[in-house]
Amino acid sequence: MQLELFSVGTELLLGEIVDTNAAYLADKLSQLGINCFYKTTVGDNIARLAGALDIALRRADGVLTTGGLGPTQDDITAAAIAQVTELPLEEDPASVEHIRRIALQRQRDRGSAAQSAEASRTAAGERMKGLLKQARLPRGATPIPNPVGTAPGFILRTPYRGGDPKTIISLPGPPGEMKPMFEQTVAPYLAERVAEEGPAVLVSHHLRFADIGESQIETELRDLITTQGNPTIAPLAKPAEVHLRLAARAATREEAERLIAPVEAEIRNRLGAHLYGVDSDTLETVVGRLLRQTGRTLAVAESCTGGLIGHRLTNVPGSSEYLLASLVTYGNRAKQDLLGVTAETLSAHGAVSEETAGAMAEGVRRVCGADLGLSVTGIAGPGGATPEKPVGLTYLGLAHAGGTVVERRRLRGDRSMIKERAAQLALYLLYRHLKGLPGVES
Ligand code: AMP
Ligand code: MG
Repeated sequence: MQLELFSVGTELLLGEIVDTNAAYLADKLSQLGINCFYKTTVGDNIARLAGALDIALRRADGVLTTGGLGPTQDDITAAAIAQVTELPLEEDPASVEHIRRIALQRQRDRGSAAQSAEASRTAAGERMKGLLKQARLPRGATPIPNPVGTAPGFILRTPYRGGDPKTIISLPGPPGEMKPMFEQTVAPYLAERVAEEGPAVLVSHHLRFADIGESQIETELRDLITTQGNPTIAPLAKPAEVHLRLAARAATREEAERLIAPVEAEIRNRLGAHLYGVDSDTLETVVGRLLRQTGRTLAVAESCTGGLIGHRLTNVPGSSEYLLASLVTYGNRAKQDLLGVTAETLSAHGAVSEETAGAMAEGVRRVCGADLGLSVTGIAGPGGATPEKPVGLTYLGLAHAGGTVVERRRLRGDRSMIKERAAQLALYLLYRHLKGLPGVES
């Protein structure tokens, strides 16, 4: 089945709000195994919405709209659907009942405000007219109850322009109403429809890579990517890492997993050192797991990342088992007083140097009594660069019982990007050490 998503509302076109509904629903459709090849955003305009719906209904099995079901004049989704399907709008008695009940309840909750009885009756009458407009659905539509607000949604299945039947699903715009309605009514309905078409599930896994770019991954996997079928292989570049989505369609989840397994194994074979996790793994959860498994403790000394590494490590529940401290030693004095980096090291080599990074890692390991000391020092910019030390120059240090390693990197991006990448690479250095991977002797 193939559905197109519609987000209705001029505020979306003006950039006043972000279209979170479309992202939420696209994810849900893909989990249901429904293809979504187009997403359309349209303002509150009947003619343009009807025109865009017509294009979608000719090429897809149906549409799923959010927004424009409210009580005001500019809420035109039901009218546009009625127009394009050539069906009249009819009042749905159950929805009228629901709306009246909620309106009465709200009136009671508001109490008798300062208005005169006459004025408040007139205002209430006007409001009720608007509210009841929401109960007018295209003929033949099944209402979708709204447990939170007044506007019902609806599901309509109707032959389109004398051809095949199409599915039209409309939900209100507020995410707090749309989501429960989707979960409770639309998802089960669509799951049943998908099952009627033949057994099919879509299983996808995200492989997560550190310290390798999207284009390098593509180069290494070119043959697999060009001959891909089931599963599909798609790279996704994230701010400080790259994901590869493997998605397989099959009759059962087990079968889909069986299709993915050999492709994943081959990718692991080629890019194993960079592939640090799958799906919800993050570098901080993975290193946390490895530290706990091996019973080792960690202390961190951060300069340019300003606490970002400590923040990420402590986002993991239970991190107190292995993380002893994360010190933000930003100035030279702190590097000397708290970590014991010598004045000679700092003056001879500078705060951003291999020697200082090494001394920071050793210092934090020693003063905290940790098994491992991790450090980072770099020039996040935009100022502070010299011809020998450009913006982005970063040193990452790791001190362990067997010695100290320092890596030199030149990171790209603005200040916050450099901080994010430096934190990522520091955690990746720790990861490789814990896994005994090449580049860091264990
Ligand atoms: P509507 O149903 O068009 O009257 O939308 C009511 C409110 O729901 C809007 O003012 C937004 O706050 C929210 N909303 C509507 N569409 C979306 C969307 N696509 N994504 C996120 N929020 C939305
Ligand atoms: Mg609107």
